[in-house]
Order: sequence, then C-alpha cells, then structure tokens
Amino acid sequence: MLLSGGIDSATCLYLTKDKYRIRALTFVYEGIAERELNSAGDLAKAACVAEHRLVRLPDLKEASEIGGQKFPGYPPTYIPMRNSVFYSFAASFAEEVRADYLVGGHNKDDLAVFRDTSPRFFAGLEMSFRAGSKILAARKTRILRPLEGRTKAQVVKLASRIGVPLELTWSCHRDGGDHCWECAGCAMREEAFGEAGTEDPLRNL
Ligand SMILES: [Zn+2]
Repeated sequence: MLLSGGIDSATCLYLTKDKYRIRALTFVYEGIAERELNSAGDLAKAACVAEHRLVRLPDLKEASEIGGQKFPGYPPTYIPMRNSVFYSFAASFAEEVRADYLVGGHNKDDLAVFRDTSPRFFAGLEMSFRAGSKILAARKTRILRPLEGRTKAQVVKLASRIGVPLELTWSCHRDGGDHCWECAGCAMREEAFGEAGTEDPLRNL
C-alpha cells in the first residue's frame, strides 16, 4: 500500500485509513485463488482506499508450480524473489502518484523464513529506489513494515483489537466458497487465531 503524508512507522496501516490517502496493490500471479482476489478487493473497500490496483503477473509462479525441490527451506507457496518484483511495481506506482511511503504487511514469522523480508533487504531496496528516481529521492520515499516485530498470532490480536473486518480475510490456498481447513494456509490461520485466543469469524459461518 502507498501513503502520502507523515506516518509513524510503528502505526498500523488500518489505523491510519481515515488520515491518509491510501492506495492498495494486489499482485495477480499464476495460480492465485480467485477468492483471495475478491477478499483483497473487499478489504480495500472496507479500508476506503483511494485506489485498488491489480497488477497482473501471469508468468510469476509459486515454487510448487516450478518444482518445489529447487527451493529448499521454502514452503511450496514461495515465489522466487517475489518482493523484489512486488516492490518494484510499488515503487513505479509511488513515483506515478508521488507517494511518501510503501507499506508492507510482513510479520515476524515471515522474517524467520524469507530473506526478502529482512530489514537489510528493504534498506538496500529503499536506497536503490531513491538512486533510480529523482521523484522518490526528493520525497525521501520510505518502505515501512509496521508488523515486522509481531508474530502472526500477535497480528491477529492487534487486528481484532482495532476492528479490522477479519470476516473479510482469506487464508486458504485453494479456491472455493469456504476455507478448506486442510491446506497449509488454513493450518497457519487456525494456529494464529488459536494462539491469539481470538475467535475466527470464518469458523462459525
Ligand atoms: Zn485451505
């Protein structure tokens, strides 16, 4: 998501939705669940974003589609160097709309697995964007990750506390009317809600 205006990096994006002009980006890669796209649209609407843009990347595939064994230590849903790709599109959008911040929702659990969510990676990326763009350099555009100090369970707790419409979220890797409660995405969701002690509104439908 992209913001114009000042923001404290520790502030959760959803809390700022009435204060800043927020634009959301969703990346449509090969095999993404249709339901996940709908959910992204619903959440963007609920957050009253100024624009929700879909970036279509049909040639970008998950490790399971390429050959999971090629990426040891990564889950089958890993997309090789995805954050280099995603943030480059975000920087292009930021230059177009003169955004001051790119905001990513990476959490502490992501940092333990994905090297392209590390502070070192983002510091380098931020430096590259400013080196490559007069506009982003002049605005001193920054990349913020307000959730990186929190585990998935802590993110669920926070989201519940500040009124994020959790019933609109989608975690399942499969398509369908409801979560399958069998895939890795569903298992991680159950674990996070359980650990947070938060009731999952999607479990009671
Ligand atoms: Zn599932």
